Amino acid sequence: MRIVLLGAPGSGKGTQAKLLSAHYRVPQISTGDILRAAVEADNELGKRVSDGIGIDAVTDNLRAPDSRRGFILDGFPRNIPQAQELDTRLSWMDRPLQLALNFCIEPEHLLKRVTGRITCGDCGAIFNRYFIPTEKRGVCDQCGSANFTRRSDDQAKTFSKRLDAYLVESEPLIDYFRAQQKLRTVQVEDDTAQVFETICSVIDADIRPFDKKVSAGDVMTRSPSLTSRVISGGAVERAKVKKKPAASKAKGWESVCSVV
Ligand code: ZN
Repeated sequence: MRIVLLGAPGSGKGTQAKLLSAHYRVPQISTGDILRAAVEADNELGKRVSDGIGIDAVTDNLRAPDSRRGFILDGFPRNIPQAQELDTRLSWMDRPLQLALNFCIEPEHLLKRVTGRITCGDCGAIFNRYFIPTEKRGVCDQCGSANFTRRSDDQAKTFSKRLDAYLVESEPLIDYFRAQQKLRTVQVEDDTAQVFETICSVIDADIRPFDKKVSAGDVMTRSPSLTSRVISGGAVERAKVKKKPAASKAKGWESVCSVV
């Protein structure tokens, strides 16, 4: 099982990657984790931190013995050149990517998810003002503390910057993987468990067809939000029921969050 996860910051990609890793018993290769480990170990990679995470660091992980059964790439590739280089190296290893899972979410929902998150400063419990409020306002359900913090990451301004950076760099990847017929789009507004179930059914249909037969089309018909604005792999898009002519597709990120 060799898959890549595409999704905007806050789309729940990291959480799902961990769940998938445990469920399918393949490692999650997260560039965020690689970077943190390198900085802690102060090794060669740590010194090259300013260059960002390179393909070499990722390749090392792909070659590691625990990746023999497969891997879940989270946070890489971020752009077309990285995707091409990754494809090249995986083809050398005779282990091409099988799927790119595109996390699709409405921008308003994403914003609430990220900006509404509050963390108990004493016990670490995580709540959300919009979706998972505390039972008693301002008081932690778990430990009774009123000492709540919000990560600076979660501030709306910081978040929009991260989102913009993601869109500019990563949105072309959607088309890249679509052209390879490896793109599968999953609506991720539901709660973690439901999203996980949907993703598993997509994976099982494509990679493990003998386990369960569910087509990507079946998954998408369950979602009612195609007519609203959605984020496809992070892109702010105006989804349309009617397909636009290909010519108008070139401008900006406006494209249809379509099922492939
Ligand atoms: Zn608490």
